[in-house]
Amino acid sequence: MDKQQIFNDDGAYIAPTYARFKVAFVRGEGSRLYDTDGKEYIDCATGIGVNIFGVCDEEWKQAVIRQLGMIQHTSNLYYSLPQTELARLLCTKTGADKVFFSNSGAEANECAIKAARKYGNTKYGRNEIITLKNSFHGRTMATLTATGQDEFHKYFYPFLEGFRYAEPDMNGVLSCYTDKTCAVMIECIQGESGVHVLDAEFLKELEKFCKERDILLICDEVQCGNGRTGRMYAYEHAGIRPDIVTTAKGLGGGLPIGACLLFGKCAGIFGSGDHGSTFGGNPVACAGAVSIVERLTNELFLEVQGKGAYLKTHLSRIKNVEEVTGLGLMIGLKTSAPARDVASACLEKGLIVLTAHDRVRLLPPLNITKAEMEQAIKILKEVLEK
Ligand SMILES: *Cc1c(COP(=O)(O)O)cnc(C)c1O
Repeated sequence: MDKQQIFNDDGAYIAPTYARFKVAFVRGEGSRLYDTDGKEYIDCATGIGVNIFGVCDEEWKQAVIRQLGMIQHTSNLYYSLPQTELARLLCTKTGADKVFFSNSGAEANECAIKAARKYGNTKYGRNEIITLKNSFHGRTMATLTATGQDEFHKYFYPFLEGFRYAEPDMNGVLSCYTDKTCAVMIECIQGESGVHVLDAEFLKELEKFCKERDILLICDEVQCGNGRTGRMYAYEHAGIRPDIVTTAKGLGGGLPIGACLLFGKCAGIFGSGDHGSTFGGNPVACAGAVSIVERLTNELFLEVQGKGAYLKTHLSRIKNVEEVTGLGLMIGLKTSAPARDVASACLEKGLIVLTAHDRVRLLPPLNITKAEMEQAIKILKEVLEK
C-alpha cells in the first residue's frame, strides 16, 4: 500500500480539520498495530479510548460478524434484540432505569442536555446548565456551547443560551448558580483538557447541593467510563450517584455508539416523540457493545487498577516527567518537553500515545499485557530522558 498516495489524497479531498500524524494504520492484534510499511506499534491510544479490548478482539469481532450476518440496521421504528440486551445490561450494571442510544459522545450529551431542560422547564421553568471550566463535551453546537474552553468557541457564535462555566470547585458552582439552574454537567476526570481528576470531596458536596435543590447532576463518562478507570464508571470512585450518565467511546469497542443513562427521577422525562435518531442503537454496534459490557466485571476492574498503578509507578520514575495524573488506565503525564513532540518521538519508536492540552495521555487497551506495558515504559523513558 502506497502511504504517500494516502497522504496526497487526504490532503486533496479531506477537510483539513485534523493535525494528523504521518502514519496510516492498516491492521492490528490486541495492543499491537501495524502501519502501511508493516512497522509494529504498541497502542496506548486505542483510537482515543475506543478499542477498549484492543484491535480485532475475538469475542467482539464474532459478536459483530454474527449480527452482520443477520441484519445490519432496522431503524428505531421497530424493536431490536441487540438494543434491548445492551440496555438491560447497562441498567443492571449501573442501577440506571432507562437508556437512550445515539451514535457518539456528543449526541449522548445532546440527549442529556435535552433531558435536563425538559425536566427543569416542565417542573420549575428552569433551563440553565452549569458546566465546568476546562471541560470537553463534544463538537455539536450544544455540546460545544457546554464545553468550557474558549479556544473551541472562536468562530462559531452565536452559541446556545443557558450555559454557565464554573471553576471546578464548590465556590465556582455557587457563583454560577441561579434560580434558573436545572443541571450541573461534569466529567469526573477531565480528559481532553489534560486528564484532571476532580476532587472527590468537591463531587460529594456538589451531589448534595444538587439533590437539595432538585438540580440534575450529569456525569459525562464518554471517555472515563466503561471500565477505563478501574470502575464501571468514574463517578463510582467518588461514591456519588448522578441523575444522568452519558457514555460512548469504549462502549462500542470500535463501532460508533453513544448512550444516555437516566436514573431514578429522570426515568420518565422522555415521552413519545421527545427525541430520536435514525442510526442510534444500531444493531451491529449494539451487538458488539453487548460483548464488551458483559466483560466489564469486578475482576477486570481490579486488573485495570493494578495495571494503572504499575504504569503510574514506573512513569513517575522517568526523568522529565513532572506529574502523573489519572485513574486506572486513563493516565496523563506532564513532561518538560512539549507533549506533541513527545508523541511524535514515541511514534517514531513504535509507541502510540495521545496528547491532551499540554499533557501526554495514555489510554491503552484494558487487556494490555505486562510485556507490552514494559515496552511502552521503555520507549517513553528513551524519548523523555534523551
Ligand atoms: C470524546 C468526548 C466527547 C465527544 O464524543 P464524540 O464521540 O467525539 O462526539 C464528549 N465528552 C467527552 C468527555 C469526551 O472525551
